[in-house]
Amino acid sequence: IKEREKNNFKLFTEDMNYHFYRKMMIEKELREAVERNEFELYYQPLADIDTGLVSGMEALLRWKNKTLGVVSPAEFIPIAEETGLIIPIGEWVLKSACEQAFNWQQMGYRPLKVGVNISIRQLLDKNFLKKVATVVENSKLDPRYIDLEVTESIAMHDSDEMISKLYRLKEIGVSLSMDDFGTGYSSLSYLKKYPLDTLKIDQSFIRNITKKKDNQAIVNSIISMAKHLNLKVTAEGVENKEEYQFLSNLHCDFVQGYDISRPLNAEDFENNILVTN
Ligand code: C2E
Ligand code: CA
Ligand code: CA
Ligand code: CA
Repeated sequence: IKEREKNNFKLFTEDMNYHFYRKMMIEKELREAVERNEFELYYQPLADIDTGLVSGMEALLRWKNKTLGVVSPAEFIPIAEETGLIIPIGEWVLKSACEQAFNWQQMGYRPLKVGVNISIRQLLDKNFLKKVATVVENSKLDPRYIDLEVTESIAMHDSDEMISKLYRLKEIGVSLSMDDFGTGYSSLSYLKKYPLDTLKIDQSFIRNITKKKDNQAIVNSIISMAKHLNLKVTAEGVENKEEYQFLSNLHCDFVQGYDISRPLNAEDFENNILVTN
């Protein structure tokens, strides 16, 4: 038993070292990733549930590094947030997404709203409003085609300052979505204080919705609450026709997920999703 405990401890510390080392590597490489042009945006379509027509897209960050290879956002975004690197990275994302959306409109494709993920670190940055205003203006994209996706973590900073910041973002002309709705915060009182346009129901509630009664109850309630609050609802992670149909019966507004399309690089999105006017 002694021997085994010793071995377990050795495995445990090796594991710790590995994670520590990997995190350090990611942080080190992340520092130079913007300058080295290692990021790319993928785009995933959102569809109007009634017509099935693509009505928007979400920009999703991809990172390919020469030593680490492809690192998933689930791994590097938290590290970028912890280190504050998300501020320059997020600015690159917003700028690139706006430029891409503007270029596609210039090329004569039917305009789509582009969703950009905004981390709480960015929102708390005192220069954030000015940056958004500048980036949007420089891109020449009409701000009504920009949707900023924030998470419920903003509700933990329940200050008048956060509320007024969101109102000032709305004054720029962008819309606001609450991402991963239902996972982050227990109080719903923020819903009446914040100037939100859309709730994006987290994919964990959509998973197996055709079979799981509890998910059905939750999603049904979110949708009817949203209607009363005059908010649109997007269901995330819709993977098949059965889920799509089920959500349509619940009068969800928009769907996003593998059933419509996986996230695609700009070229594939242009060739397979965009339509001309
Ligand atoms: P998210 O904002 O909730 O984005 C949706 C995630 O679900 C994406 O993962 C997308 O590829 C995935 N997804 C879409 N449809 C389906 C589906 O039908 N089934 C399943 N199983 N998954 C689906 P991705 O691209 O790996 O991004 C993960 C998370 O990383 C994002 O979750 C977001 O929180 C964060 N992220 C990605 N790009 C950015 C960014 O530019 N800035 C910030 N701050 N965070 C980002
Ligand atoms: Ca999102
Ligand atoms: Ca989400
Ligand atoms: Ca509808």
